[in-house]
Amino acid sequence: MSKRKLLLAANWKMNPAPAAAMVNAHGDRSLNPYHPHADIDVVVLPTFVDLQRCMDAGLIIGAQYGHPETVGAHTGDVSMAMLKKLGCRYVLCGHSERRANHGETDEDVAAQAIAALENGLHPVICIGETLEEREKGHEKTVVKKQLKHLPLESDVTIAYEPVWAIGTGKTATPKQAQEMHAYIRSLLPDDRRESLRILYGGSMKAENAEELLKQPDIDGGLIGGASLKPEEFGRMIEIAENLHG
Ligand code: PEP
Repeated sequence: MSKRKLLLAANWKMNPAPAAAMVNAHGDRSLNPYHPHADIDVVVLPTFVDLQRCMDAGLIIGAQYGHPETVGAHTGDVSMAMLKKLGCRYVLCGHSERRANHGETDEDVAAQAIAALENGLHPVICIGETLEEREKGHEKTVVKKQLKHLPLESDVTIAYEPVWAIGTGKTATPKQAQEMHAYIRSLLPDDRRESLRILYGGSMKAENAEELLKQPDIDGGLIGGASLKPEEFGRMIEIAENLHG
């Protein structure tokens, strides 16, 4: 089991925030499973338009993307500085959907992570191989390259998300995930190796959360589809708390 405090991050992608998340529960988790917990970290990553409402409901919020420049001619973008000013604590960098749909390169992702840190945001940086890369046996080479430009000496979180497991219902087995997490950890700077959190992402749900979260190098989850279902997300939080509470 991980020695680090677990983090469960709910990535709602371009979906409306679940109504249950908007209830200001004043600490009553039966009313709102997304609210902050003592023994584990829980963060929600809504669309930009729902950030303020989630914050008003007492949730810890992060954005799904932030532009590295502070201001300027970038139509449609929102800067890390603006996200910080709004009250965001976290920001996703380099989710595979952004890499695929917006052409974000490893260098772009590194620039986002650095800008996030400079603006006082905690970057959750996504890495992971495609199905084709795994079938060729290239998964370790791919993540090694993705890690190369990242500010790993700083306070960041890595999310290992095999692209073939995202939104597909196919989860990496706990053994496959643990092997990749241990490999990623072996590449971290000496003084960050034991403290940096590495989340797993890819069709994580209540049904498979326990086995994944029991692995020594899995420090939480970046959860898409299952995080939109309040009851299921609540069960995942309970599993994490039971393991680490
Ligand atoms: C994700 O959005 O990062 C993700 C892992 O999605 P899902 O849990 O739906 O596979």
